[in-house]
Amino acid sequence: MGFQVSDTPTDASAEEVIASLRATNAQLDRRIFDLSALLKAGDALHDVLEVEPLCALLIAMVRERVQVDRLALFLNNPETCQVELRAYNGLPDEVAGLSFPAEDGILWRLLLAGEPFSVLDLGGSPRFPEIFGVNQLEQVEGRLWLPLVMPGKVIGVLSIGLSRNGTPVDVSELSFLSALANQAALSINSARLYERIDVARRRLDRSLHQLSMLFDVTRALSAVSDLTGLLRLILERAIDAVDAEKGSLMLLNETGEELEVRVVFGLPDKEIERKINEGEINCRTFKPGEGVAGTVLETGKPHRVDNTEDEGRFTDRESSHVRSILCVPLTVEDDTIGVINITNRKGNEPFRDEDEEILGALADQAAVAIARARLYEAAITDGLTGLYIRRFVMHRLREEVRRTRRYGNQLSVVICDIDHFKSVNDTYGHPAGDAVLVRVADVLRAGLRTEVDVAARYGGEEFLLLLPQTTARAAVVAAERLRKSTEELKVEVGADEPLSVTMSFGIAELDIESGETPADLIARADAALYASKEAGRNRVTAYGASGGPGKADAGEDGGFTQDGDTLRRLRTLKPEAMAMAAQAERRGAESEKPD
Ligand code: GH3
Ligand code: MG
Ligand code: MG
Repeated sequence: MGFQVSDTPTDASAEEVIASLRATNAQLDRRIFDLSALLKAGDALHDVLEVEPLCALLIAMVRERVQVDRLALFLNNPETCQVELRAYNGLPDEVAGLSFPAEDGILWRLLLAGEPFSVLDLGGSPRFPEIFGVNQLEQVEGRLWLPLVMPGKVIGVLSIGLSRNGTPVDVSELSFLSALANQAALSINSARLYERIDVARRRLDRSLHQLSMLFDVTRALSAVSDLTGLLRLILERAIDAVDAEKGSLMLLNETGEELEVRVVFGLPDKEIERKINEGEINCRTFKPGEGVAGTVLETGKPHRVDNTEDEGRFTDRESSHVRSILCVPLTVEDDTIGVINITNRKGNEPFRDEDEEILGALADQAAVAIARARLYEAAITDGLTGLYIRRFVMHRLREEVRRTRRYGNQLSVVICDIDHFKSVNDTYGHPAGDAVLVRVADVLRAGLRTEVDVAARYGGEEFLLLLPQTTARAAVVAAERLRKSTEELKVEVGADEPLSVTMSFGIAELDIESGETPADLIARADAALYASKEAGRNRVTAYGASGGPGKADAGEDGGFTQDGDTLRRLRTLKPEAMAMAAQAERRGAESEKPD
């Protein structure tokens, strides 16, 4: 790229010498001007750290220098092995997306040589008709191709068309343009490295965020032991994690054939949401392959719908106000046990790859927690009635007694026992007896407070109910309601007439002042139950008067008489005396009848 000062002929006139010196001077001036322009360009390029603006800057610089409108900058993408169009000027937008393969063709080899070259022959036709034709490169209207070279590699090429007045680029500009292109190559290469590092850093940031969220979720999940609470927590965290509006969690039903909605969250109508979550409304179920959820169940793979309008699998678009869906499987050891369905990313955006990633990770944790909670629930639940087993309720009782003492509030326990149950078995058979137990358990469940009370099968046809924050007086009202519902029950057992049963109840309220133990409390409730049986069954008795149970009888009119005496007796209860009385009654001794 050097230039020579021409030899001055010895016989030249003084004018010729001066003219020659002037020319040399002008060349030097131009050279200095170019060098300072390159220096400035280098500084400007150096200040830009991103690839796209750098490409645009190079195009603007070349444009200003050679007054050319048709410019296109291609960069080699090593990942796709394509040389892709990244910036252009003076060309229609159809050129966006053009590319050609970076392979061992003649065009590529010419680029690797690093020198500018013409892509048209003397007649104005492409010199590389095949590669230009296949890749529609004539659209960029280039004549001169200027490789972007840096030590050891070619990172792209700038295609330069005709100048504004229709002339090709002056050859005297080539060295400047090459130098400029190579400056830009260095800056673009650095920017690409920087972008790659930035992408890696963002990926790392995201992984850290995911890890900390998962850690948080895992800790939260291990703190919840009941399945319903767990499912609710999982769904809430899932919706939160991907910044969505709402969602549902579905699990396979007992037969393992269909997905059923177990919890929903984020519905606009909170009352409907509550009813679904408490099982008062049943949502539609999904068989394998049915809808988006069924597809995920069948394939065991996540499924994303950016716009439900374009998704044939989605049927209830109008009614459900669902725009976008992200559905991931809950999988334990290759078994899909359910799905998490998240809908409508906030801000009207579709879900992203990273949403799918994070939800997948959360679902893996959640599935294990669900499986564990189910095992735990199976271990503490009575197989026939679905009520808690005795060991669990005794554990809960100890907890409740501690809590009641700590906070100074009340706790009542109720023991109830089906009347003459033996004769049900004897008359109608054991399966009929089982059917009665199941229905009575349903009555107990339905009649108690879902979140607070605990109902357990205490023995064969005997149940223990824990009523926290409940006085004996309130417990009597609750038990009376249960007694009535039991009495009204009609159990179809295949006999001519549906079967009816009654139940007797015994109640005791924890006596905090005396430091009563859980066993004492149960013994008093048991004694009250015994009193109900003694008094003719199908009635409610609260442990009352000193020395014996205070009978609280549901009279013929169906009303419970809570007279002042009964309440006073409840308050002045002496636990030791009560326990002794209970034992005495258990032994069948002739106890003093209260009232
Ligand atoms: P009472 O009114 O005094 O309570 O009379 P009862 O007949 O209910 O009392 P008893 O304790 O004599 O009988 C309880 C019966 O409950 C005996 C047992 O066969 C039956 N039982 C216990 N567990 C089950 C069960 O799981 N299924 C069935 N079908 N019967 C059961
Ligand atoms: Mg019984
Ligand atoms: Mg019994």
